[in-house]
Amino acid sequence: MDDLKFGTRDKRGNWAPNKPLEVAPFWTGKFGEIGKWLVGYIWPHNTIFMLVTLAYWYFVLPEWDTMKTMSWGWGLWLYAVNAGGIFLFYGSIEFFYYIKRKQGTRFKYNHKFPADNPSDVFWFKSQNIDNFLRTFLISIPLWTLIEVFTLWCFANGYALWLSPESHWLWLAILIFLAPAIHEVHFFCGHWLIHQGALYKWIHSVHHNSINPSPWSSMSMHPVEAAFFFSEMMWHLLIPSNPFVAMFQLTSTAYGAVVGHIGFDKLELTDERAMDSHAYTHYLHHKYFEVNYGGDGVIPLDKWFGTWHDGTKEADERMKERFRKKKERANARKAANTAAE
Ligand SMILES: [Zn+2]
Ligand SMILES: [Zn+2]
Repeated sequence: MDDLKFGTRDKRGNWAPNKPLEVAPFWTGKFGEIGKWLVGYIWPHNTIFMLVTLAYWYFVLPEWDTMKTMSWGWGLWLYAVNAGGIFLFYGSIEFFYYIKRKQGTRFKYNHKFPADNPSDVFWFKSQNIDNFLRTFLISIPLWTLIEVFTLWCFANGYALWLSPESHWLWLAILIFLAPAIHEVHFFCGHWLIHQGALYKWIHSVHHNSINPSPWSSMSMHPVEAAFFFSEMMWHLLIPSNPFVAMFQLTSTAYGAVVGHIGFDKLELTDERAMDSHAYTHYLHHKYFEVNYGGDGVIPLDKWFGTWHDGTKEADERMKERFRKKKERANARKAANTAAE
């Protein structure tokens, strides 16, 4: 496909889409676009996460009697399935687009591939090995731990378990709102770990990957990973059901890859391509202090002035914000020196 019909490439070879990013249309009064937005909301990403959830529900989760007692047996089983699932899901994107490079740099935001650029910030100087090991040794074990704890709470009646027969409408609304819950949870924690020392100690690990690839998605400090997956535990507090909690978790875990695909579209045939929805979070990896949330289902970035839609105007607004922040920091420094 000709990616220049959809965007522009700069002198260095980095590609950017022509169309600015947009938050959900009901926030901007574009009510005529809600139908189209709704289709994109459901298909394909959330449909895939729903299918993954159904697979876990029917084929992976042990009997509820077994889950009444914490034990290594079912914990390790869940770890094996989680690790296998991520290996296949993230691994196949990595394999076709980063190892085989089946579409070269077409629709690729950053023209470089991480494997071609060794760096000292990574374990073994390799972004891929570093990101891969952190995923399987740190993030997936923490994901599994939170999953085991939440299921154990449901199995023992420590959380409200609404039956789908009598509460189908509320549960359907909750499933529909799961991406919105994700966006609020992720924005708040993510913004927090961008502040001062928290960034240095915790979140810088994830941001070492300025040019992310699928394995970067779960490359996190343990504190960040624990926060990230704890999103599932909202369903222990609100009246819900373990199936909805599992949907929240699988869309968080399998969905983490979305922002780190690195390509705007994944070509399926010569004429057809799938939108990746990766640009919002790609801009976050590029500029750090913009787009703390997601695609704008709940547009917190817009409300707090940190939204970057990829346009020159957004670039100017961002630079102005950074300049003011620097001025404030300098003024504080000057005041401290004067007080000494
Ligand atoms: Zn990221
Ligand atoms: Zn960040």
